[in-house]
Amino acid sequence: EAKEQGKGQFVFYEDSLKEDIDENMTLSNDLYSAIDNNQFELVYQPQVDATTQEINGFEALIRWHHPERGLLAPAKFIPLAERTGLIIPIGEWVIRTAMAQQKKWQEQTGKRLRMAVNLSTKQLKMADFVNVIEYALLEFDGDPASFELEITESIFMEDTTLMLNQLKQIKDMGMAIAIDDFGTEYSSLSYLKKLPMDRIKIPKTFVDGIGHNEKDEAIIVSTIVLGLKLGCRTIAEGVETEKQLLFLKQHGCEEIQGYYFYQPMQAQKIEHELFNYYKRSNGLICLPAHKI
Ligand code: C2E
Ligand code: MG
Ligand code: MG
Ligand code: MG
Repeated sequence: EAKEQGKGQFVFYEDSLKEDIDENMTLSNDLYSAIDNNQFELVYQPQVDATTQEINGFEALIRWHHPERGLLAPAKFIPLAERTGLIIPIGEWVIRTAMAQQKKWQEQTGKRLRMAVNLSTKQLKMADFVNVIEYALLEFDGDPASFELEITESIFMEDTTLMLNQLKQIKDMGMAIAIDDFGTEYSSLSYLKKLPMDRIKIPKTFVDGIGHNEKDEAIIVSTIVLGLKLGCRTIAEGVETEKQLLFLKQHGCEEIQGYYFYQPMQAQKIEHELFNYYKRSNGLICLPAHKI
């Protein structure tokens, strides 16, 4: 009987594996045509000055409106896009869309609002990545000094010569580089000497521990000091409570990104609610954001 059960489990396992593969194949077919079918959207999460609560900029985050599956978060398709190479055209779409949006918002508000986009290692490994950036800047008359690329430490786990080279060229154009999810992917800090970073993003996993985990708190405080000493700015991600905000502010973290202030929002919502609020308040840029 045990044998039969074992056999049954094996068959079950095989079936679910097959389903996974089928599902991934369908999904990658869908992914292939998603740009042409206009199924991607960027949502934008404000990055807020910890002290004044002024919005300094936004991080662009991709969403996929799948015709059958509905709204898909990046965790559901970015890994697949990376495996299939589709991240290259998708990543280019992200850069161009975010830059066009930023240009429009800078004109609408008269403020030099920053825009940050996430990069995959695969994109930086393409020899012509710098051209993608250059063309986008030309096409949209972009503002490189307020455009930022978020990379993760995982790029330093691979052969970095080409990637570092491209990052340096991008920095020479005036763009900023942020390290996303700092301290979660790669433990050696020596990479910090190889590329001058402009911003360190403190991940939600550490922020979650504020108030009840001394180790998380120690890591955060050290990261803020490290950033200061390296001449980088620091921003904390996934800030959800006032307690977290106060701790971060008290220890010198400069910017905050998280649900405590704003969730990622559709462009239209930002224009209608945020920018109109600014107008009503005579262009005041500080606002009790979470109380809108
Ligand atoms: P990330 O770059 O670290 O982005 C932060 C994630 O945390 C976002 O999830 C954001 O919605 C979420 N978040 C922000 N504040 C809070 C908070 O207070 N509470 C909670 N629970 N979550 C918060 P999202 O949009 O699902 O993106 C997940 C990841 O997918 C991103 O992490 C990034 O690594 C990747 N990603 C997103 N857009 C792109 C893209 O255009 N290209 C690439 N290559 N990756 C992307
Ligand atoms: Mg990011
Ligand atoms: Mg992050
Ligand atoms: Mg990330």
